This record gives sequence, structure tokens and C-alpha cells, in this order.
Amino acid sequence: MTATIIDGKAFAAGIRARVAEHVTRLKEESGITPGLAVVLVGEDPASAVYVRNKGRQTVEVGMNSYEHKLPAETSEGDLLALIERLNADPAVHGILVQLPLPKHLNADLVINAIDPAKDVDGFHISNVGLLGTGQKAMVPCTPLGCLMMLRDRLGDLSGLDAVVVGRSNIVGKPMAQLLLGDNCTVTIAHSRTKNLAEVCRRADILVAAVGRPGMIPGDWVKPGATVIDVGINRIPAPEKGEGKTRLVGDVDFASAVEVAGAITPVPGGVGPMTIACLLANTLTACCRAHGLTEPEGLTA
Ligand code: NDP
Repeated sequence: MTATIIDGKAFAAGIRARVAEHVTRLKEESGITPGLAVVLVGEDPASAVYVRNKGRQTVEVGMNSYEHKLPAETSEGDLLALIERLNADPAVHGILVQLPLPKHLNADLVINAIDPAKDVDGFHISNVGLLGTGQKAMVPCTPLGCLMMLRDRLGDLSGLDAVVVGRSNIVGKPMAQLLLGDNCTVTIAHSRTKNLAEVCRRADILVAAVGRPGMIPGDWVKPGATVIDVGINRIPAPEKGEGKTRLVGDVDFASAVEVAGAITPVPGGVGPMTIACLLANTLTACCRAHGLTEPEGLTA
């Protein structure tokens, strides 16, 4: 059997189109334009690329994009003052502080200074608590994207065995909470898990969020399972030329694709969903701020 390849690029394009449609309607009917502020501190090249992409896609769906680029030596006080201003600005519905921050800045303190209603990354401790207690939260973008793909593929997830490998605050834990919210029987595996192969083989839904290239081989995958590979790992690719690299996931795609029922590739799977869900979250935050009906199917 060869798995269906879940096309994250196409799926993300669909989400962006739905967001854009809703934004157009919002503007026409209420005169409101959702706004996303992105704060970048320092010159990390990868972060700069992400921020540029976020800004471009925000504008493409008809929202306002506000970019705040601060020097690496920005003090905590100055950063917190900017967040205070953005919290108070009615044109800003979503605030994202690009991580990682330079070492002298306390990321927890900074994230928790964001108004939880504008916390479109879903990292504020209030949103973590709301998600954990099954209440309406802003949900972290990457796990939200994974959930959308799973619902699209499988419909009702009730009663399915889900295994999430990885327990980070940004992917593993919120992913597990979302699957629990959709009535899966959830196992969270991590670096101390015993018999990881056996644990993975139980999964109807297997989510890998580890950061280790190809660590999950096909024979850890239950036949017919849906495999969501969140991992993004850059490895040497001498076949492409000297010094060249390529991206691979945490799942060994070549062997897993022969066993799974459906699988996300890397690149082109989960990756493109993250910014699409950021835009969806910004739209949701805007609707909630104005007491308007939330877009359907774009939240958890
Ligand atoms: P973290 O490093 O924060 O967490 C990795 C998790 O994997 C930890 O919980 C760790 O366990 C677990 N782990 C490490 N080694 C093993 C092992 N041998 N067996 C089982 N579990 C193990 O990573 P993130 O969650 O931030 O990211 C995970 C991957 O997802 C990365 O490749 C990252 O690049 C990618 N990513 C992709 C995104 C996207 O598509 N847009 C967004 C965010 C991340 P323990 O807690 O015990 O140490």
C-alpha cells in the first residue's frame, strides 16, 4: 500500500483563501481590517525570512501588517513598552514576538506581557491554561494546522489512538491537548519513553515533533495510520553538490509512505500550515475583539 500524500501547500492555500474571503466581507460589512503586528528583535537570518513571509502573506489576505524591527541590544523595558503600545492599539488584533529572542531578554516575561486576546501564537500562559481546561483559547499555530489536516482527512477523530512524539510547549503538548479535545485516546512520548517503537505502532494518528531526521522508520507505523510529520531538519545532500543541504522530517518518509494510510511530506506538509493558521488566528482574534461571528472551521 502507498499512502496518500497530504498536500500541506494546497491545504494552506485553501485556508488563506478562506481567510481572505472573510476579511473582504469584514471590510465591506463592518469597515474593519484585521491587523497583525510582528516584533523581531535582532538580526537572526532565519527569523528575518519568517517575518518577511508572514508580512507578505498577511497583506495578501487583505490584512494590515505592522512590522517592528528592533536592534539586538534592545532592553527588556523598551520591548515591554512596545508590547504595551500594541496591546492598547485598536488597529492591532494580533501580536507575535518572533522567537528565539536574544539571550538577555526573558521570553516568558515578554510573551506573558501580550494581551492574551491578541496572543495569536497561543503561547501566553492564559491561553495555555484555557486550552488545557478545554475552554476557548488562542491555539498555537503549528498544532492547529495539524488538527485541521487530521479533521479534513479523518472527519470525526473520536476514539482514535493518537501518539504525539515530543512534548514541547509549542508543538507536542498543545497538539496532545487538541487531540484530547477531539476525543482521541492520547499518548505523549518523549526522550525517556520506553519501547517507543511499540508505542508508535499503536497509533491511528502519529504526530512526530522531535527534531531528529528520519528517526521514525516505516516499521514503527501502524498500517493505514495517518502520519503528521512536524519535524524540520536540514541534512547534508552531497547528491545535490558539495556543501548542499536538504530538508527532511522526523519520519523516514520512504519507508513510512509504504505503510501509512496518509502522510505529510517534508517540505510541503505541516510547514506551510503554520503561517496560514497565524492568519486564521488573527482573523479569529479580530472577530472576538469586535464581538462578531468567528469564521467556521478555522479554530480548534
Ligand atoms: P523541542 O526540541 O522543543 O522538543 C523536542 C521533543 O522531542 C522533546 O519533547 C524531546 O523529549 C523529544 N525527543 C528528543 N529526542 C527524542 C527521542 N530520541 N525519542 C523521543 N522523543 C525525543 O522541539 P520542537 O517541539 O520545538 O520542534 C520539534 C520539531 O518540529 C523540530 O524539527 C522543529 O524544527 C519542528 N517545528 C516545525 C514547525 C513547523 O512546521 N512550522 C514549527 C515548530 C517546530 P524531552 O522533552 O524528553 O527532551
